[in-house]
Amino acid sequence: MSKAMPTRIVAVVGFKGAGKTRLIENLVGYLSSRGYRVGTLKHSTPHHPLDTPGKDTWRHREAGAEASAVIADGRAAIFIDRPLSLAEALDALGPLDFVILEGFKSVGYIPRILVVRTPSEVEKLSNGLEVAIVSQIPLEGLDVGVSTLGFSDVERLASIVEEKAIPLLPGFDCGRCGYESCRELALATMRGEADPYRCVHLQAGDVALRVDGRRVPLNPYVRSVFKGVLRALVATLKGCETARRIEIRVEGDG
Ligand code: SF4
Repeated sequence: MSKAMPTRIVAVVGFKGAGKTRLIENLVGYLSSRGYRVGTLKHSTPHHPLDTPGKDTWRHREAGAEASAVIADGRAAIFIDRPLSLAEALDALGPLDFVILEGFKSVGYIPRILVVRTPSEVEKLSNGLEVAIVSQIPLEGLDVGVSTLGFSDVERLASIVEEKAIPLLPGFDCGRCGYESCRELALATMRGEADPYRCVHLQAGDVALRVDGRRVPLNPYVRSVFKGVLRALVATLKGCETARRIEIRVEGDG
């Protein structure tokens, strides 16, 4: 059974109007041209009207639907009126090589590209996880310890993403990887001193349990039981003998 490569992520972080979306457009275009499957995920303000007021899907939810979707040839959009975790949102995007996040400033265990207009913005946005800084103005004299690039340096930036993007760590900060937090493992990975699969929750890579939208840590024994039993059961079903990915949802009534 071959193992699908995990999606790797990097966040593009900056203040409003700094040029994050333009940079992401360039980066997505370049990575796609290298043959990667690329997705994006944007963090928005709580009251941003994601759907268009007055449109059918908006009216359906105004009438009480908890979710609505629109499907067209080759495209679809789903609107859900509940919070979605980052892991759930990544899952919804499907199997991709890279997902570029726009925003998510407060998540402290994701490599980040800063997009800035002034040196003071670097200080405000830096949290030690930056892999590059992009600016329209020269940032000479700024001791940041990472590459400073212009918006047109997309080839170099894409190479940095290829090298530094990592799978999403769970954020449990359980210390079972030998590092005291997910941030510490992310930093060690970015320095080339560790592998993100030191995270015991990623080691399975292929077994994840979510209860009411919250991912639940599994110890190695429970994980191997889930994996063995589910694979064996599913393999007995016609056409599922060589399943590569199994998803099961159980809805409770309590
Ligand atoms: S084992 Fe995984 S969840 Fe726990 S601290 Fe390490 S990276 Fe985070």
